[in-house]
Amino acid sequence: MKLTYFGTAAAEGMPALFCNCSYCKEARTLGGKNIRTRSQALINDDLLLDFPADTYFHFLKNGVEGDRIRHLLITHSHPDHFYPEQLELRQSPFAHEMREKKMELYCGEGAFEKLKNALVANSVICQKMTVYQPQRIGNYTVIPLPANHHYGDGAFIYAIKDADGAALLYAHDTGYFYEEVFQYIEKEKLYFNAISYDCTNVDIPSSLKSSHMSIDNILALHERLSKIGAVDKNTTEIINHFSHNAKPLQHILEERVKDYGWLVAYDGMQVQIANKKT
Ligand SMILES: [Zn+2]
Ligand SMILES: [Zn+2]
Ligand SMILES: [Zn+2]
Repeated sequence: MKLTYFGTAAAEGMPALFCNCSYCKEARTLGGKNIRTRSQALINDDLLLDFPADTYFHFLKNGVEGDRIRHLLITHSHPDHFYPEQLELRQSPFAHEMREKKMELYCGEGAFEKLKNALVANSVICQKMTVYQPQRIGNYTVIPLPANHHYGDGAFIYAIKDADGAALLYAHDTGYFYEEVFQYIEKEKLYFNAISYDCTNVDIPSSLKSSHMSIDNILALHERLSKIGAVDKNTTEIINHFSHNAKPLQHILEERVKDYGWLVAYDGMQVQIANKKT
């Protein structure tokens, strides 16, 4: 499985859209990996995760031909993850000769309601998913798990397994997991070859009830997931979704988490995820 990060910032972007703080100024000066757009990722070449307003730029930058995307998973309805108005462009006269005639979009309650209020092309089919119900989507098995985020929205984190058995937990956006999620993972003996963790808060003190995570929260989460056999030393762990309030300059983050063996996501980063376990 190949995971490509298109956007690795929180809602405001990094540097933030309207911000003049010292960290945003430094990010603008340093450029490169310190320029982070809004949240989106691609699995292999055919499963898109989230649909922010930055999607157009992401496709241009990463050489994606949008009409080839058949499957789209939406994590939740926050606009940095879901900007449905631009789905209207998937029809004539805005698009012609699309190679995938239909795009299938999968989401929870909040995104489904938001989609209903947007003008959407009839070449987009939307399906509401139910937590803990595995679903076959193209070459993947996808299990939506409840995210500790945007309560009442039906926000999901996704367990995604490909045809080779490589398994990813894409945990955006979420705080520390609900107890029932740990119980489900343990009962179903889910094991992850890779996890992408919400790290919006980095070193800002965050309780286990917060709707985003800090490094301390992720360490606690890693320990719990290890205990129930969901991760081990072969699991690739990645932190992602950064806010300027947490001062997430790339080289500082890499130094901060190197002892844990974590990767720090940046826009354009690719990770190969193999199906292997100790
Ligand atoms: Zn977000
Ligand atoms: Zn700022
Ligand atoms: Zn969010």
